[in-house]
This record gives sequence, structure tokens and C-alpha cells, in this order.
Amino acid sequence: MGSPDYSDGCMIALYPPAELAEELAVDGGLPPSELHVTVAYLGKADDIDGDELRQVVAELAERRPFTAKVAGLGRFTGGDKDVLVALIDSPDLESLRRDTLDALREHGIPVPREHGYTAHCSLTYLDPDEPAPLDRLAARDAEFTALAAVHGTDRTDAELSHPIADVAREAFAAGWAMSGGPMTERVRVACGTAMQIATEATDDPDILRATIDLGRLEGMWALLFQRREEQQVKHTKLVGAAWEPLIDRQAVTTAVDGFRAQMGLAEARGPDWSRVRAEAVAAAKKMLYALIDVTGFGKLRQALRDAIAAGRAEGVVNAVAIAAERGAQVGLDWNIAFKDAYRSMERLDELWADADGWLARTLDGAAGDLGSALADGMEAGLTRDEMIDAAMDILTADEGAVAFTVDWAMTTAADEGALALYRSEGVLQIDIITAGDGRVCSSCIDAEAGSPWHIGDQPRMPLHPSCRCCYAADVSLAHFASWFA
Ligand SMILES: [Zn+2]
Repeated sequence: MGSPDYSDGCMIALYPPAELAEELAVDGGLPPSELHVTVAYLGKADDIDGDELRQVVAELAERRPFTAKVAGLGRFTGGDKDVLVALIDSPDLESLRRDTLDALREHGIPVPREHGYTAHCSLTYLDPDEPAPLDRLAARDAEFTALAAVHGTDRTDAELSHPIADVAREAFAAGWAMSGGPMTERVRVACGTAMQIATEATDDPDILRATIDLGRLEGMWALLFQRREEQQVKHTKLVGAAWEPLIDRQAVTTAVDGFRAQMGLAEARGPDWSRVRAEAVAAAKKMLYALIDVTGFGKLRQALRDAIAAGRAEGVVNAVAIAAERGAQVGLDWNIAFKDAYRSMERLDELWADADGWLARTLDGAAGDLGSALADGMEAGLTRDEMIDAAMDILTADEGAVAFTVDWAMTTAADEGALALYRSEGVLQIDIITAGDGRVCSSCIDAEAGSPWHIGDQPRMPLHPSCRCCYAADVSLAHFASWFA
């Protein structure tokens, strides 16, 4: 089996990355290094000036690298040999093909036009009656980062790079650096999007200014979410540390024994599982509400109050950061701002009432978890000791009722802190901004779509536990000058 010899030919082509070429190559077919996607076949090398061709390719390479789809197999027939090909699908490739024909025409290089264009990568040549070595090719991505000028045996690659894209990347990075925010996956994705927008809006004179702004905005949000996350983790640990010593194995044992005694009395009447659940929750509540009188409960109350104060302070700082971003004012010192806002929470008595409300929720949440564990244990026929272990596990779990409540309390506090700030600054309209991280619930999307809201009419955030969506409004920063460097 022989392949046609194209070594005296001439073309503009894309070569897939080496790893993909290895995947695509078939036994007896073209070697991986020769697999390519022809963009334009130009006939005999002798008829084309190599320098002129390389010049055309250098001009065409001023575009962004792109990803095409390997979209299955094809078998071209009608020649001396059949050709088994991988089909390539990409709008970017179509526009590259169009631009290539235009550029060749401008440079006076003739393009043989006896064929239409079907983007493909030839894999192997087959006799008409020869079976194909494979009958299916799974779809996959093919990333193209360079364009090749092939003139006989000489191949010259020009790296794809849009001049505006590089400038846009720098502009975005400069904006991001101004924000002081961390580099996150979301920031990276936003940078790619900004570069794409910039390359499509080259005639907009303000595009680079807009790209800097975008970098700063994304950096601000990244910092905001990172700080919130750090505060949540820190206070979840502190509240958990105050909670754990309260969970005494002896008290749990007493609760388990009491519950089992109740169930023993009921046994004669046969198991009634809804009654088992009700008894289990009652036993759990009795045990957990008794904690209020245990030494150490005051510490827990204090820890929860501190968590709420931190949440509120962070909410205030976030509101100022968002307003500063909207007003293009840079230089917010988040740490100074946080300390200042936190200090002003010291005198807020309402935080104790808040803490007591969240404590009750914590106890109810834990009682629900413990009640389920006891009822499940009874249904599963656990021994007394197994049931005690299960109860201890559920009450001291890292992802248990305490962590859940602290998260919810702090998010609520942050939203309340922001709202209190807006009220005191006389804000009339507020927006709701979803976290935009792919985990946003539909009620939050509706709340965002309804923006701007007249203050007081807006939905009360958070709309659900572990919500990361935020209020946002324009605020005069006159009262916060000391927070800016
Ligand atoms: Zn949300």
C-alpha cells in the first residue's frame, strides 16, 4: 500500500498537537508527524515563491489560537485511492480558510479551485475494496496554536497570536493587579473572555480601558469571595471548638439509654416507625437543650456572636468595595476597613439577640440530625454502644449542624451589614448580584433579573443557605476616606 507523494507540493496547513496526532494515527497510515489539516492546497512548490508564501502565513497568524472539534470519520472516494479522514469542525477554521483565500489573492498566489472545502485530516490511503482500519472516531478537541507554510519539504510554522489579544491580556492583568485580588480559575476564564471581546472590537477606541476595568472588577470579586471564605472557615473552626467540649459522651449515653427505654416500653405494641422518629427527636432535643446550662455554653454563645460580628463587618467592607469599584476608586485597604468595621460592632447589643437566634437554630439542627441517627440506629438494630458511637459521630461531624449554621449566620450577617450601610448612607436603589459560579439557584437569578430594586422592596438575602449572592449599590465614599490608601 503506497501513499501519494506530496513532497513537491505546497500548502498552508494546521498541524495538530503531537499528543493528538499520536492518538489519531492509524496502523499503516500517515505517521503522526505528517498528520495535518490543509487550509489551502496550492499545487506544485515549483510554481510558488516560498518567501511570498511564508509572508502570507505570517500575516494570517495574527489571530487567536483556536480549538476545533475532531467530529468523526469520513472516507473520500473517487480517486485512485480512497482516503480515510478525520473530519474537523470549527467556525474559526472556516474564517481562517476565507481569510487565507483573500490573502493569497492579494499576494497574487493562485489557488487551484477544482475542489470545494471539507476540513479534514487525512489518516491513511486505502484501496477501494480495502476495509477501513477503524469505523468510529470519538469526538475530541483539537487545539491549533500555529499555522504552517509548507513549501516542498520545507515547513515553517508561525505561531498564532492576535496582537490585540496580547495587549488585552496585559490590560486585564493590570486591572486585576490594581484590585489586589487572588488569581482564581474564574479570573483566568474572565481574562480569556476579555481578550476575545477585545479582538472582536478592535475599532472601539475605549476597548483597552474597558479591559482594564474588567480585570479590576474580576479581581475585586475574587478578593471579596476569598475573604468571605476565609472568614467562614476561621469562624466555623472557632465555633466548632466551643461546641465540641459540650458534647459529652456521658450525656449522649444518658440520652441513648432514655430513648431505648422508651422504645422498649413501646415494643410490646410492635414498631411504629413514625413514633420512633418523634421519640428520637424528642430525646435529642432534651439532651441538646440541656447544654444551655452547661459551663462552656457561654463560650459557644460568644463564638457565634463574634462570627456574626465578623460577617457583618465583612458585609460592610464588601459594600464599600463594590461601591468603590463602581466609582472606579482604587486603593481600598480591606484589612484596615475590616478592623474598623469590626470595632464598630462591639457596641451592637442586637448581635447578642442574633446570636441567641442562631444558637436555637444550631440546637434544632443538631437535634434533627441526632434524632435521625437514633431512629435510623433503632431501625437498623444497632446495639447500645453502636448507637452511642453513631450519635457522637453525628454531633461532632465537620460538616454537621454547627458548620451549616455558622455559614448561614455569617452570610446573613454580611448581607445585613451591607444593607445597614446602604440605609445609613441614604441609598434608594440596590442591585442583587449572583455569585456567577455555576451553583446559583433560580431564585437568586430572578432576584438579579429584578434589579435594580427600591430599597426595602428587594428580596431579603441570602435567599437560601450557603448563598454567595450579594447586594450592590452606589454609595458616596466620603465617610470612608480613611479606608483608602
Ligand atoms: Zn444565591
